[in-house]
Amino acid sequence: MEYLLDHLPPAWDLGPGQPEYRRKQLVEWVFVKKASSFEAMSNLPAPMRAHLASRYSLTPMTAAKIQGSKDTTRKFLWKLERGDFIESVLIPANVDLFGERSARQTLCVSSQVGCAYGCKFCASGLDGWKRHLSPAEIVGQIIEAERVAESRIDNLVFMGMGEPMANYENLMQAIEMINSPWGLNIGARHITISTSGLVPQIGMLAAQPRQLRLAISLHGASDPVRSQIMPVNRKYPIAALLDACEDYAGKKSQFITFEYILIEGVNDAPEEAKLLARHARRVRAKVNLIPYNTVEGLPWKRPSDAVIEAFAAHLKGAGCTATVRHEKGHDIDAACGQLRLREIQSA
Ligand code: SAH
Ligand code: SF4
Repeated sequence: MEYLLDHLPPAWDLGPGQPEYRRKQLVEWVFVKKASSFEAMSNLPAPMRAHLASRYSLTPMTAAKIQGSKDTTRKFLWKLERGDFIESVLIPANVDLFGERSARQTLCVSSQVGCAYGCKFCASGLDGWKRHLSPAEIVGQIIEAERVAESRIDNLVFMGMGEPMANYENLMQAIEMINSPWGLNIGARHITISTSGLVPQIGMLAAQPRQLRLAISLHGASDPVRSQIMPVNRKYPIAALLDACEDYAGKKSQFITFEYILIEGVNDAPEEAKLLARHARRVRAKVNLIPYNTVEGLPWKRPSDAVIEAFAAHLKGAGCTATVRHEKGHDIDAACGQLRLREIQSA
């Protein structure tokens, strides 16, 4: 069966003889009232509801497991109707998120099942890539999380499992539903797409009108260091990536964020800090330093606090805006961007 939200509203098949205003009602049921079944859409005529129910499925997933509580980071494990598991992470307002105190409730969403990019430090790519998430499966994470949490999500980060830019078409269709006033109505400035650095897609994103936020997983400031931990750097080396960032920054009013995980003995040397500051100044990026979170089975470690502070001081001394993402009793770092589903499934 097809998912209603794999199509944009103009393409929805309302059934024979339904006037156009019914489409608007359906849009409202889906995105505003967040109905969980066609049956519940009480102001639609029964034949239309029956038609929709025979033609489309509304909800592509169910919550298989929810960890955490209302005041802490909450992880949702979704069982997709199509058979896979994915995760989203809900981060409450007023938690120190990516170096800023966010007044918004943030959801970290997945874009693929698995990841093909195989960054050496990341749990998401350990089992390789399985498939893209469809638009309905992306938007569904938000609608379902809002339903379960009984509260509005007003900030989104594509930092869950997968490389969002590798699933560009579905991502953009989902964002149309997420960002539009008739849809979930989350402002473009509150939607961050994180990428390992797919240069052509950064160009495509720069060329479209939405003021989406871009975060680059840089994690290395020189090609030898970056290539060692991110194979994608061999295809799109730092020079090409920075050109794409410069183009993006020139076309948008938002600052780019460079995410930089600090891994002991790999990318934490003062020379890397010096280069990183130069790159950041060139494209007016803010740097978000993330002390590495150890992943079971992987050899990498986070540097000592002294090394982390020295790295940050180097950046600041070189005139670059840098924040260190500290844990504050919340397992944000552990939750976001390094999802390892096998563990959760077997738990
Ligand atoms: N594929 C995209 C988005 C998902 S990853 C990307 O790479 O940008 C989201 C962020 O979490 C990335 O910056 C990623 O490098 C980071 N991350 C992955 N594993 C991590 C770990 N063990 N500790 C800290 N951050 C990690
Ligand atoms: Fe994929 Fe991003 Fe993890 Fe790299 S860091 S393997 S691109 S999810």
